[in-house]
Amino acid sequence: MPPRVTPCPQCGKDVAWTADARWRPFCSERCQLVDLGEWFEEKHRIPEPDQDAKPFLGPEHAED
Ligand SMILES: [Zn+2]
Repeated sequence: MPPRVTPCPQCGKDVAWTADARWRPFCSERCQLVDLGEWFEEKHRIPEPDQDAKPFLGPEHAED
């Protein structure tokens, strides 16, 4: 039975899903790390709080 072959999600190279393919579904450790890195960056992309969005209203702004 021929091994199942799927394209590497990172580079598109054919990857045979055998017991030896330790980086599957990626073709290599490099592609796996790149993909994990992108996922990691995506997850940590938190929108920065916009400090200027809220106008500063100090006590001196109170009506006389
Ligand atoms: Zn790859």
